Parts: sequence; C-alpha cells; structure tokens
Amino acid sequence: MLDIDSHSLSIPPHRIFCIGKNYDKHIKELGGKQAPDEPVVFMKPVCNIVAPGETISYPPAGKELHHEVEVVILIGKKGKSIPESEALTYVSGITLGLDLTLRDVQKKLKKAGLPWELSKSFDQSAPLGIFKNFNSKELDINNLSFSCSVNGNSRQKGNTGEMIFSIPNLIHILSNWWILKPGDIIFTGTPAGVGPLQPGDKMEVESPMIGSYSWHLSPENL
Ligand code: MG
Repeated sequence: MLDIDSHSLSIPPHRIFCIGKNYDKHIKELGGKQAPDEPVVFMKPVCNIVAPGETISYPPAGKELHHEVEVVILIGKKGKSIPESEALTYVSGITLGLDLTLRDVQKKLKKAGLPWELSKSFDQSAPLGIFKNFNSKELDINNLSFSCSVNGNSRQKGNTGEMIFSIPNLIHILSNWWILKPGDIIFTGTPAGVGPLQPGDKMEVESPMIGSYSWHLSPENL
C-alpha cells in the first residue's frame, strides 16, 4: 500500500481535522434539513494520507465509496484560542484533498447514533494534494473555486464563499478546543455533488488558484 511516506509534506503531519456539513446544498443532498449551530468535527489518522498520483484500493468493508473534494489547509504555527481576525496568519499551506467516505456505512452509523470512524477513517481515506505556500495577500481564502471530476466528468463544483463556517472561523473554533500545532491539517468540508466511485475510476480535483491533483482507484475490487 502506498501512503504518506511517498508524500512530500513541508511539515511532518500532526493531525487531520475534518469538518462535516459545511455547505448548505451538501447537507440537503444527504437529506439533512438545516445547518449545524457548531461545526461538525471528526478526525482521520495521518497514515491515511495518499500522495497525488498514487493508486487507492477500494475499501473492502463498504459498498458505496464517495468522493468529497475539499479545500485543505496546513497550520504552520502553534496557537490557542486564536482570534478570527488573526486566524490566517496561522495558515502556512493550502491544497485540495478528498475526504473519501463509505456512504453506506456512514448511513448505518448515523442511524444508530454511532461515531463515524468506520466510514471515514479507513486506509487511504485521505488523498491529499501538495501544499502551496499560503499568502493571504495573494489568495482570497473566502472566494476560492474548486471542483472534482471523475473519469473526466464534472461531479462537484464549489466555492469557499459558500461555507457555513469560514476557514478563519473554523481555525478560531478548533483552537478553542485544541492547541493547534504546526502540521495540523484541516479538511474544510465538501460542496454538493458527492457521488459513488467504481474500481478503476480516476478522480481529479482542481482549483485555478491551487492546482490540480489526481488519484486512481485500483481496477480490482480487493
Ligand atoms: Mg467531508
């Protein structure tokens, strides 16, 4: 299995925070009715990171693997209770990633009121692009368009301006719960258009200001 060892990260990864339910249309496409009052937070282990271009094995325990393209940020310095107005000074990198999700498993877990790990934290569940150095003067983090295609067909289109909790707000809130440290990675939520993947599919994520990255699912459903 190919994993984080083949990824060129500028800072050793510390943790992966993921934000759920951060785009209104995505909440509705999964049958939700209203935006959460607080961000939905879960984590993936850093060993689940997959470098661009690597092949991903279809997870054996689920039947409905979904792509979720997300803007991903890298924290570059330590901070606690970070004011929203200073939040972007803690961001050292930005890229795109896929929060791969076993939707059939997640539906069962949600229904039973159980934690999401089995549906979100399986091996290779965090394909991650290369972090581009972040400079808030060059890039408006609150107006970033990004997309995901599968086998060349457009599946998801989003803009960070549509987020329920903006990236500065997420950093503020997360830093009230955890002391953020260099190497912390934040997947910031997915827009509408999530859908199933099949063995052999090619997933490509793209943003004009960030770049494009792709991964293949192994053609064999092992
Ligand atoms: Mg997600």
